[in-house]
Amino acid sequence: MYILLMGPPGAGKGTQAAELVKKYNIPHISTGDIFRAAVKEGTPLGQQAKKYMDSGQLVPDSVTIGIVKERLAKPDCQSGFILDGFPRTIDQAAALDVTLGELEIKLDKVINIAVLDAELLQRATGRRICKNCGATYHLIFNPPSIPGECNKCRGIVFQREDDQETTVKKRLEVYMSQTQPLIEYYREKGLYAEINGQQPIDKVLEDIEISLRGGQL
Ligand SMILES: [Zn+2]
Repeated sequence: MYILLMGPPGAGKGTQAAELVKKYNIPHISTGDIFRAAVKEGTPLGQQAKKYMDSGQLVPDSVTIGIVKERLAKPDCQSGFILDGFPRTIDQAAALDVTLGELEIKLDKVINIAVLDAELLQRATGRRICKNCGATYHLIFNPPSIPGECNKCRGIVFQREDDQETTVKKRLEVYMSQTQPLIEYYREKGLYAEINGQQPIDKVLEDIEISLRGGQL
């Protein structure tokens, strides 16, 4: 099963990917992870990427797609993969098509876990973390027993800058503007499936499986 997984930050993509890995016994390929791995291992492409990053430049698509291609060509991808975090642009999507063609791989489905902005905002802005031990809380779903105080170590529970409303809103805006053209791209190819991510985790998974089997939601 060759799956491309999309979804805004906070939609629960990681959780669903972990379930799909177990279910289909295929690797979860997060481009952030393989990028860091290539840089760390110092592969030729990893070294190139590092050069750009060290000088504060964007890593060009040719390098990025090269790193993705190297990963997808590995033996564990022979019966499938869950690709996550790539492509981000139409150019990258077109480059991915070429690469997949070279590897004789055909995408089965592009799954987008859709969650409304208001819900994503609530999920993110409610997040709190203990300054001392790193325990995580959520003001609505999992609040500390004493407000502002960690249950485990009584440390101060605070909100990371990443989870503040303006930061989250900005992140979502960037994501949406990048993603909308990709949705159209894959919809035209008949690969696109939108999953309602505002359901319990197991129901989201069930819907993904129905969609992967070719069923209608
Ligand atoms: Zn703590």
